[in-house]
Amino acid sequence: MSQSIDLHSHSTASDGALSPTELVLRAHSRGVKVLSLTDHDTIDGLTEAIAAANTVGIEFVKGIEISCIWNNTTIHILGYGFDVCNARLQELLAFLREARWSRAKQIAEKLHAKGMVNLLDKAISQQQQQFASNNGPGRPHFARAMVAEGYVDTTKEAFQKWLGNGKIGDVKQHWPSLETVVDILHKSGAWVSLAHPCQYNMTRTKLSRLLREFITSGGHAMEVVNGFQPAEQVGKLANLARDFGLFASAGSDFHYPNTWGELGLYRPMPEDLPPLWKKLGVLH
Ligand code: MN
Ligand code: MN
Ligand code: MN
Repeated sequence: MSQSIDLHSHSTASDGALSPTELVLRAHSRGVKVLSLTDHDTIDGLTEAIAAANTVGIEFVKGIEISCIWNNTTIHILGYGFDVCNARLQELLAFLREARWSRAKQIAEKLHAKGMVNLLDKAISQQQQQFASNNGPGRPHFARAMVAEGYVDTTKEAFQKWLGNGKIGDVKQHWPSLETVVDILHKSGAWVSLAHPCQYNMTRTKLSRLLREFITSGGHAMEVVNGFQPAEQVGKLANLARDFGLFASAGSDFHYPNTWGELGLYRPMPEDLPPLWKKLGVLH
């Protein structure tokens, strides 16, 4: 099931465990020939990843995974091959950076009220140990800070008690609208794909409505395969991609090495679907 093209991965520039260089080297050793780094809401890891990819001879596609809101649901949008200098894209990235900083401060305040003092600085230092970033720390960094301070034993416990869905540190973020994000990516020259459509727990009717608006806003593709999602979901998404005439993308959504996730590992994509990577200027 190991694939030579992986269009969805994360590094320490967002919530992954490997630096951009380590990620590229690992992909190379796993036989990946075409790789995209799609960190959450940031392109900070791209320069380092491109340099590493050039060294080992991987074809690299500039990527990003941006969060947005549609119908009160947080949706992830993948963009590929954009112009990093595009003014509106730069503006959007600055807005997202600001939003993440303000969320980090709110998380720290909530935890401070529970006796966990100065966790913002500690989360920042956890983050900076991994990657020199100007983004605000996220929940994984707070979780590591809690372990370092002895408030919890494991990062898993940090999420179960404090940071997971519905817990006090799960501060909701005010993301931009789907229409805005897709439009800006499109106009910055990106190929735009709707990430992991089955993760939003929508009925087929609602998902169809989302897809119509995604396409109207400038979307091109759908992520038909995301890691080890169940085979019947792949079938369902493939049908939707056919119905809507969308290109299909696929990737591992790799965050860190573990037993069920690995670079280049995902179920094969149905062969009749038009692959997005044909559009990305890569040779495969
Ligand atoms: Mn993530
Ligand atoms: Mn995602
Ligand atoms: Mn992802």
